[in-house]
Amino acid sequence: MRTLTTDTVSKIGEEVTLQGWVLARRDHGKIMFLDLRDRKGIVQLVGNKALGDARAEDVVEVAGLVKKRPEAMVNEKIATGTVEVEIQKLTVISKAHDLPFPIDTNGYEVNEEIRSKYRYLDLRRPRMARNIRLRSKMVAFIRNFLLTQDFVEIETPMLTKTTPEGARDFLVPSRLQPGKFYALPQSPQQYKQLLMVAGMERYFQIARCFRDEDPRRDRAYGEFTQLDLEMSFITQNDILELIEGMFTRLVKELFPDKHILKSPWPRLAHKDVMKKYGTDKPDLREHKDDPDELAFSWTVDFPLFTEQSEADFFYGSGKAKFAPSHHMFTAPHPDDIPLLDTDPMKVRGLQHDLVLNGFEVGGGSIRIHQPEVQTKVFDLIGFTQEQKQEFAHMLTAFSYGVPPHGGIAPGIDRFLMALLGEPSVREVMAFPTSASGTTSVMDAPSTAAPEQLSELGISVKGPILGKSGGEGVYARIIEDLKSAGVAYEPYEHEAVRTSEEAARIRNTPLREGAKALVLYADDKPVMAVVPGDRKLDTKLFKATYQVNDLRMATPEEVEKVTNVQIGAVPPFGHIFGIPIYVDAAIRENSSVSYNAGMHTRSVRMAEKDYEKVAKPIVGAFSKLTNA
Ligand code: ASP
Repeated sequence: MRTLTTDTVSKIGEEVTLQGWVLARRDHGKIMFLDLRDRKGIVQLVGNKALGDARAEDVVEVAGLVKKRPEAMVNEKIATGTVEVEIQKLTVISKAHDLPFPIDTNGYEVNEEIRSKYRYLDLRRPRMARNIRLRSKMVAFIRNFLLTQDFVEIETPMLTKTTPEGARDFLVPSRLQPGKFYALPQSPQQYKQLLMVAGMERYFQIARCFRDEDPRRDRAYGEFTQLDLEMSFITQNDILELIEGMFTRLVKELFPDKHILKSPWPRLAHKDVMKKYGTDKPDLREHKDDPDELAFSWTVDFPLFTEQSEADFFYGSGKAKFAPSHHMFTAPHPDDIPLLDTDPMKVRGLQHDLVLNGFEVGGGSIRIHQPEVQTKVFDLIGFTQEQKQEFAHMLTAFSYGVPPHGGIAPGIDRFLMALLGEPSVREVMAFPTSASGTTSVMDAPSTAAPEQLSELGISVKGPILGKSGGEGVYARIIEDLKSAGVAYEPYEHEAVRTSEEAARIRNTPLREGAKALVLYADDKPVMAVVPGDRKLDTKLFKATYQVNDLRMATPEEVEKVTNVQIGAVPPFGHIFGIPIYVDAAIRENSSVSYNAGMHTRSVRMAEKDYEKVAKPIVGAFSKLTNA
């Protein structure tokens, strides 16, 4: 029964029901004009104000009559400009607050953090809505194109082992095998090569890849999507032609306004582009002010190796002489194999990079399929015996009949960014991670509950929030209090080392201080918290919690467990991944005060809020200090 905005033009004289958002409202005396937006577009509604009150971004349902607009009133700018809908009934389904930013602009002027926090509103902006829909069309086009070319779409695991793209891995701790970790894939590289051994011959996947590297304009932090593709029994030329043919058609069908400057795409030798342009991703556009000009090119004949640097995180971080230009599975040029023994830097690799308007939008290669060549490359990039062992499965697989193979992986986000001339990949992703590594809307990463951590056998130590030691712990406490939404009073004061000194300088009662003790209970670190005027009753604690052996941690152990000096340990076990026991006498005070990770900083807050944040086990295990 719902009519979409764009269908109104063919329903003149008919009664329709429309549903959507109010884009804008204009009042003229007793009459109101509403622009209604749905997934297809917009249409103008007109009616008496008395019909009801609807404001911008409210969700409404409108029953009305479609009328042809008089010639002079036709709006050429919108697809429904020849009609308007006379409102008969207006129902507000849901009201909208004032938006935190305008959505009728292109949005570049709005602070990125705010856009990210309210991403669902930012995506209402026409530019973003268009980008996300284009992206869907692009992926659908690629999928259809490849399926008709005999490709098989295959999913590969997300929880996997380290992959050699040269970046840092994201690790996922295993609960079933504590102390062990999965890595999120930097790319499906190894799996796609294994699929060639499996005889699939032509594989592709719209693959999510994860790299823990610093964000760049053309690469999102954390995760991105690429069209991952691999073929058997092919030459490098086959890969280049397939991709060139596919993207040429894609541009023609989905982006008819764009035009490709040169076809066939220039293929440039690495040595020559470097000499001529000083970069391996030259911007070959002739009219850089023409937003519709697309200059594709291939860079080929890369050297197989570059000199290794500290940035080669996965390889030797500068400890060996050579790092792969592309990755360690890239085949050397067959004529250059002897040079691997004599002059590795002279070896050419069968690598190909796809360049669009100055951006590298894809890379790939013909792969090594001879185990002895692979072993030689492992040695040259300085792999240790253990590192080689990590990839032994590849050599094993290759011992069972491996076809010659190769592939490529154009980045979906990067391709679309370059094609649309967007300033960042985040403009073509629905929920991108910000430059500082925080996710849209939901604010990950966040802290884990102590129970989760202990199940995983993990305790969190070391720098917290980019700061180390007590300062990091202080920052973490403030962060936790803020995210719990509780009130607290921070103090900065002279350095204090005992509960008595602290109480004096804060001008708070001694009994209100929360003394946090680090103990070893049957050899496991735990935290016990008692009021400042009381002390731990060891016997009582042991009996209550069925502990055989209980001892105080040494000052060195305290620092090892908490990263904080003795005298500044805050009563929060979760920060250090250790269980926390709080003595019930704490509840006799309405507030608690404590040194918050530093001798010079304290926090005072309501006792019940403290329990809310610390989530302690509460019991009775203290006695008065002078008792
Ligand atoms: N695995 C490579 C990458 O993600 C692409 C390829 O060699 O196919 O960059």
